[in-house]
Amino acid sequence: MAKEEKSELIDKIVSLCKRRGFIFPGSEIYGGLANSWDYGPLGVELKNNIKSAWWERFVHQRDDMVGIDAALIMNPKVWQASGHLENFSDPLVECKKCHHRFRKDLLEKNICPDCKGELMEPKQFNLMLKTFLGPVENDDSIVYFRPETAQAMFVDFKNVLDTTRRKLPFGIGQIGKAFRNEITPGNFIFRTREFEQMEIEYFIKEEEWKNVFEMWRKEMWSWMTDVLGLQEKDIHELDIPDGERAHYSKKTIDFEYDFPFGRKELYGLAYRTDFDLKNHFKEPPYENVEAGEKLYPHVVEPTWGVDRSVLAVLCQAYSEEEERIVLKLKPNLAPYKVAVFPLLKNKPELVKKAQEVYHALKKEFTVAFDERGNIGKRYYSQDEIGTPFCITVDFDTLENDDVTVRDRDTMKQERIKIKDLQIFLTNKLS
Ligand code: ATP
Repeated sequence: MAKEEKSELIDKIVSLCKRRGFIFPGSEIYGGLANSWDYGPLGVELKNNIKSAWWERFVHQRDDMVGIDAALIMNPKVWQASGHLENFSDPLVECKKCHHRFRKDLLEKNICPDCKGELMEPKQFNLMLKTFLGPVENDDSIVYFRPETAQAMFVDFKNVLDTTRRKLPFGIGQIGKAFRNEITPGNFIFRTREFEQMEIEYFIKEEEWKNVFEMWRKEMWSWMTDVLGLQEKDIHELDIPDGERAHYSKKTIDFEYDFPFGRKELYGLAYRTDFDLKNHFKEPPYENVEAGEKLYPHVVEPTWGVDRSVLAVLCQAYSEEEERIVLKLKPNLAPYKVAVFPLLKNKPELVKKAQEVYHALKKEFTVAFDERGNIGKRYYSQDEIGTPFCITVDFDTLENDDVTVRDRDTMKQERIKIKDLQIFLTNKLS
């Protein structure tokens, strides 16, 4: 795809998201707020489907994982111990002429990208978002919105261990919001100051780290291609060299994705050593009495951004075919799995039958009901939001108890008995 087509693509996706209720600009009626975005009725379904697929795959389906859901404002001592107060910063540069500010490591050249002016010397800018807890605003009441979900898994490590009696290796997973006072948010939902992460801290013995790192590398690939439906050719691994990794990491791979605005980080995989547990616990927090072991476990951390997942999925799924726009979402991610239409809106017997089919399917699937306009328009409307199947109730339905089922991708239609619909859809959607 040519460069202009790619930049057009992101505009088309942003516009589709707004038009169909996936994602709106945040606080729009007040002029928005610094690149914040709200997920609308379809967006929240897509996002929740991604999060539940992740939880199902990495927490429920594994024997070596448990989950938590921690408070996102933590005792500030956590951030002291984790090194975030001191080290969680990006290099900020300001233009001497227009005074715009940029993240130096993201600039291609050492001049202002807006006015070509000269840049001042870089300063380290801490990304932690601050607020005050309680009625008094002074230094003692300063707290931080967490910049990553990870720390709760370390701080709660002993509680999880005591209550679940896990043995190494095992992991703790969490999905939740994180906040970073990004210098330059942008590229739609790619970089925002409030976002969601899905993270795993996987606890191991030191000598296992290379194998475990490799296991998670493969798991992350499989998630991207099998669950999200991203194409292998658009995904690239970047081994982060010494000196550029986060302060806690001994090895990091970024998984980059070819977004329409360039190749950028989608997810990360880091070997965090025993850095965090050592900083939080005076005594080794793990003990296996039978094996005579007392130690600080080491940690491999795979981390997934939820919003970047949504964006990559949308970029992958968006396609234009002659007169229709189709979101070719994997069925497991589609906001609606099926839509039901009565052939004609003004025939009560058709509407009634269609309503019956709709309510029966709704017990199992997320279902849309549409009776506006003609069938062709309704198909296109569902294609644009990625609904895999459309069902039409017509006059033959009243005679034969069967319906037309139309496939989003092939546009082929077939007649299916109403009593067989549920099993038919279950097979197709799995
Ligand atoms: P970047 O280099 O893009 O700033 P990072 O390396 O600081 O990202 P991590 O600290 O590894 O990011 O965070 C883990 C994941 O959280 C990222 O891979 C990404 O998916 C997501 N993420 C991080 N920052 C943001 C943000 N500002 N907006 C949306 N998602 C984010």
